Amino acid sequence: MLYVNGEWKQANSGKTIEVTNPATGELIDKVAAGGREETIEAIESAKAAFKTWKRVTGQERGNYLAQVSSKMRGKLDEIAETITLEMGKPFPDAKREVLGAISYVDWYAEEAKRGYGEIVPASHPDKQLMVLREPIGVTAAITPWNFPASMITRKIAPAIAAGCTVVLKPAPSTPISAIKVFECFHEAGLPKGVANLVIGQAEEIGPELTQHPDVRKLTFTGSTHVGKKLLRDSADTVKKVSMELGGHAPLIVFEDANIDAAVEGVLLTKFKNSGQTCISTNRVYVADSIAKNFSQKLAEKVSQLRVGNGIENGVDVGPLINEQALEKVESHVEDARKHNGVVLCGGKRYTGNLPNGHFYEPTVINQAHDQMKIAQEETFGPVAPIFTFKDEAEIIERANHASYGLAAYCFTKDLARGHRMMRELEYGIVGINDPLPIVAQAPFGGIKESGIGKEGGKSGMMEYLEEKFVSIHTG
Ligand code: ADP
Repeated sequence: MLYVNGEWKQANSGKTIEVTNPATGELIDKVAAGGREETIEAIESAKAAFKTWKRVTGQERGNYLAQVSSKMRGKLDEIAETITLEMGKPFPDAKREVLGAISYVDWYAEEAKRGYGEIVPASHPDKQLMVLREPIGVTAAITPWNFPASMITRKIAPAIAAGCTVVLKPAPSTPISAIKVFECFHEAGLPKGVANLVIGQAEEIGPELTQHPDVRKLTFTGSTHVGKKLLRDSADTVKKVSMELGGHAPLIVFEDANIDAAVEGVLLTKFKNSGQTCISTNRVYVADSIAKNFSQKLAEKVSQLRVGNGIENGVDVGPLINEQALEKVESHVEDARKHNGVVLCGGKRYTGNLPNGHFYEPTVINQAHDQMKIAQEETFGPVAPIFTFKDEAEIIERANHASYGLAAYCFTKDLARGHRMMRELEYGIVGINDPLPIVAQAPFGGIKESGIGKEGGKSGMMEYLEEKFVSIHTG
């Protein structure tokens, strides 16, 4: 189903896309797939709605969001189950994702009241200078499949809190999760046209979202490659853009670290979501002196992780999203083997009793080095390569990536070193002894080719506001 101008509708063309379960290969459903025509319709309805939505008070916009939050809480299990079926993450993790999704709605329900402007001191006694903060306008949001609920609210909640209206294109592999979230918008009584949903193929919907002159803002989460294309496509209409792109996070373990906490950090940042997170650890750097102990402990824990269908109880690691994702992981492990990497556990596909699923065994590779593909490219899978290092100066040099700069993690008990690392790591998010740094009230976003702009926190709402400077001569 598509959701345009406050109504659920089928695609005009009658086209559908098939949604399959990556754990079993089974067809979940066929969902209406809109194209160019429906996208234009959605943009026009968002444009019409913007005229009134921008004039609704922040307080009232916040009240709508509070309603959305309450509807999402009511459907917590239902949305979580849909996420597990569509993209495979274990059900408890899917529930955590939905709670995370709700936390953005809650945060921006409050923040909607705080779209403050500024008074600027004038350089003339008879002038009054002001900065107004006004909503940008129609916003196109394009979201990925790895967090099919929270990536949606992280964009739409601040956009509508700011007074923008939205057209969302979710990933074609997880449209039902998007429909479930939109049911909450609908049931919350959001005025028609404020939030629109167009499901379908990127080739048909993308060009309208990036090139339509009435779309004033584009917000995207996905791969760096696609983000660059969207940036180029948006250039002709000079849209404001926010881009949350790929990452290649280092996780550094110093000799003075709490080893058990660091091992736990790798489990959380590398194996949750089967490693399919832009802030997933890609390189585990361990100080020489503790490397043997650390890698043994890590391999032991990783080999105990239970792989399987995420809908079943007790599963730690679900499937990858599709066959291409599996092939990429395989190629990285193969390349690591070729370069004398030592596989401590895992290292191959997992079938178990799920022959049609896209599973890869949780894997630890020892003696990784900088020439391996895995040291440069995003693996997006459950593979932890362990590199070793001698000292701080060396590791700062190696941990900073030429092109990526999203998240970095560091484990040390030395406070001064923690501060030095915080300054030296060229990343938008740094977790010091903290593998879970993401919260709704803080800015999330990358530097370098990992992105432009922030989501979450105060800055997350600023992304949907335009500053207008007003100078009044009062003489
Ligand atoms: P992933 O590798 O996580 O699927 P992508 O960057 O390919 O990441 O996709 C993220 C989102 O971007 C999805 O909703 C996808 O359909 C969309 N997308 C991909 N290519 C384009 C494009 N050319 N125009 C618009 N959207 C696109």
